[in-house]
Amino acid sequence: MTGMLTIAGLGPGDAALITPEVAPYVARVAAREGLVLHASDNRQELLRAAEAMRLAAAGRRVVVVSSGDPGVFAMASAVFEALEASPQWQGLIIRVLPGVTAMLAAAARAGAPLGHDFCAINLSDNLKPWPLIEKRLRLAAEADFAIALYNPRSASRPEGFARALEVLNEAGCGDRITIFAHAVTTADERIDALPLRDARPDMADMRTLVIVGNSTTRRAGRWIYAPRRAS
Ligand code: SAH
Repeated sequence: MTGMLTIAGLGPGDAALITPEVAPYVARVAAREGLVLHASDNRQELLRAAEAMRLAAAGRRVVVVSSGDPGVFAMASAVFEALEASPQWQGLIIRVLPGVTAMLAAAARAGAPLGHDFCAINLSDNLKPWPLIEKRLRLAAEADFAIALYNPRSASRPEGFARALEVLNEAGCGDRITIFAHAVTTADERIDALPLRDARPDMADMRTLVIVGNSTTRRAGRWIYAPRRAS
């Protein structure tokens, strides 16, 4: 088995945020003769991963790309799920190349809202039951984590984000500074911040990363940051 499978993160959008390790692969993604692009949507991740492994096992050099970091709510886990289910591929050479994940790019634009303890929650309920998402939101609020919310508007559950805001308001987070970072590092970038109780569901879409501050998150001029200390 000579094939090689590379799982690469492309960063949040701006080419300057593609790591030097990943850059050569991106150049190869540009259309050229002999290059076959296998596009698929996120619901097909496992199929896409299995197809990538099949091609790699056949001796091809295959690159699976994700936006941001491939290990954050993206393709890397799908590849390892496919690997676990298919022992015949376990000899493949696999490399995971990290990328700048959306919450880090968003946090940098706002200041330092992830400067103290934080967690990240995927609001998509494609692969987990919605009650588990609500439980995690409540416990994250109780633990006073800053919370990065990926996939705030799941295509299959447009009302999910409204409910997430309700859960956080009920958990006492109404005063918390909440950042809506839309299409960070692209031409469409837009950053808004307001108290959670004033946040509206339509402020987020599929290209928005939401960061809910912790109870001490504050402003310093135009910046938003989490102090390093907690009591
Ligand atoms: N692997 C990606 C995340 C994939 S999930 C990463 O590490 O960033 C897709 C979600 O990521 C989107 O719904 C959005 O919440 C977030 N996202 C990805 N790119 C973004 C960007 N440029 N600006 C804001 N949010 C982004």
